[in-house]
Amino acid sequence: MKYTLPQAVQGLEPYQPIVGRYNVRLDANESYLQLEPLQAQAFSDRLQEIEFNRYPDPYANRLCEAFATYYGVNRDLVTAFNGSDELLSLLAAAFFSDGQKLAVFDQDFSMYRIYAEMFGTACEIIPKREDLTISVEDTLQYLEKHNISALLFSNPCNPTSLGLKREDVLRLVEGTEALIILDEAYMDFWDQSVIKLAGKYENLMVLRTCSKAIGLAAARIGFAVTTPKLTKVLRAVKSPYNVNAVSQAFGEILLTDERFLQEAAEEIIENRKQLQAELEELAAAAREIVRVYPSCTNFVYLETKDSRKIYEALQQRSIAVRLMGKHLRISTGNAHENRKLIRELKAILQEGSL
Ligand code: PMP
Repeated sequence: MKYTLPQAVQGLEPYQPIVGRYNVRLDANESYLQLEPLQAQAFSDRLQEIEFNRYPDPYANRLCEAFATYYGVNRDLVTAFNGSDELLSLLAAAFFSDGQKLAVFDQDFSMYRIYAEMFGTACEIIPKREDLTISVEDTLQYLEKHNISALLFSNPCNPTSLGLKREDVLRLVEGTEALIILDEAYMDFWDQSVIKLAGKYENLMVLRTCSKAIGLAAARIGFAVTTPKLTKVLRAVKSPYNVNAVSQAFGEILLTDERFLQEAAEEIIENRKQLQAELEELAAAAREIVRVYPSCTNFVYLETKDSRKIYEALQQRSIAVRLMGKHLRISTGNAHENRKLIRELKAILQEGSL
């Protein structure tokens, strides 16, 4: 055959989600909250209005307006995507010409590197400090020294759960001419967002998602907020009808339910704090847990002496968490699910088989 696959994609493996049924799912950083009956009713009413034979609004106007109002940003600078994953892949595919380099941090959302590799975008990996925090000064130096065109990172960070304060993010943005692409997927759980400044700096783009605190992972909705110039390009490179009509309607309903969103985030944060405190208590008593990181997200990141064994033992007890090398990433569940996790974890550690 005359056709050959590009080298960059030949060896790629399809994404492997955790399969099987688990009583407790704490592996994907989703919200554990179900829709409220009134929201379900609103969804069902909106479904009646959708003209399924027609394409959806290509610019998801009502959805973007609801987003802009909720976060207090200019609607003209907001673009919606089929999950922030679509946006990340478009950035890697279309925003870098030959010789332009993207940089990401070691220990950050894995898809950044995967998309860069897939689309042949040169990508440098910046190390974090030993405690997995980010040094602004070192990063600025790195960007300069390696002639980096853009830096992409999550804040707060998945998987480390650590956050870089607003003032530090701004020192970074102001200290470089590189484009700073800031993925604030978990910022609803922290109060250090710079989203309101998107558009004010020519080198800042902020990404958000409805998959975490908003509780709509199934609907696949992500957003970019950035300058008019970059917004124009984002709208030009996305596929025309990228966000389907059902998701547009569902996202709009949730993003206009301010009371629900505030209460949901507060409740999730409370449960994560409780989970974190219990894991810290366990760490103080069990030497198998090396370190529990101070989280500002809806999950807790910990280092243990044998994370694979703990991960497998939890799976056998029908609890799914995420294994990441020597670390475990555990999304908060509700109080009942967290209690179950801690109970089983204690039992596993006491069995002493580790
Ligand atoms: N960014 C980060 C940091 C994430 O953790 C995730 C989901 N795990 C995403 C982006 C992708 O989110 P979405 O569901 O909007 O594609």
